[in-house]
Amino acid sequence: MNSQTLREEMVSICRRMNTSDINQGTAGNLSVRSGDGFLITPSSMPYDVMTPDDIVEMDFDGTYVGGRPSSEWRFHRDILRAREDINVVLHCHSVYATTLACHHKTIPAFHYMTGVAGGTTIRCARYATFGTQALSDAALEALEGRLACLLGQHGQISLGTSLEAALWLAIEVETLSRMYVQALALGEPPVLPDDEMERVIAQMKRMSYGFGPEAEGSNDVARPRGKN
Ligand code: 13P
Ligand code: ZN
Repeated sequence: MNSQTLREEMVSICRRMNTSDINQGTAGNLSVRSGDGFLITPSSMPYDVMTPDDIVEMDFDGTYVGGRPSSEWRFHRDILRAREDINVVLHCHSVYATTLACHHKTIPAFHYMTGVAGGTTIRCARYATFGTQALSDAALEALEGRLACLLGQHGQISLGTSLEAALWLAIEVETLSRMYVQALALGEPPVLPDDEMERVIAQMKRMSYGFGPEAEGSNDVARPRGKN
């Protein structure tokens, strides 16, 4: 995909972050791998006025072309550099995920959909000041073997192979967080055992479940009529 098309798709995904209610004001940022570097949203610009030309082009050495890049360019850069399995980093302060992050809560396997982030939990990274290398280091650690994490007293990060996949996951993380916050009102809910979560994650891969972990297979139970 050329860089202009990617810029247009980024603006469209950012506007959908607003309409899907996972965004709060000018909080949040988005990046996508492009050429030898990546494209990233500008700092402190409301998404409804942002245009494709406002998107900033960055190299992995931290140099950029365009306006001021997101204050969180370090974690975008470090995640894209360390994680060759993904192409997109989406960060937002969605309300329920952030509510859990304010209590430094890891999301356990209280619901099988926790597996969409690729493991038995969605971890919460330790707190560090926004825009710092310390926050980037904490986020990378919490994302080990995962496609999403919470950021202590801050928000969430969701990753994807595509812009669409990252947005889908961020909304899933927010929905799971909301369910977990509500379930906690009745006491700490039971968690699914690790061997069941292994089956869930294998099933997600086999059935290309949503944009779940490494969606690669096909639904091996049902098939379109007329096909073998
Ligand atoms: P930017 O507007 O600089 O991207 O910052 C928003 C944010 O969420 C900081 O963590
Ligand atoms: Zn933030």
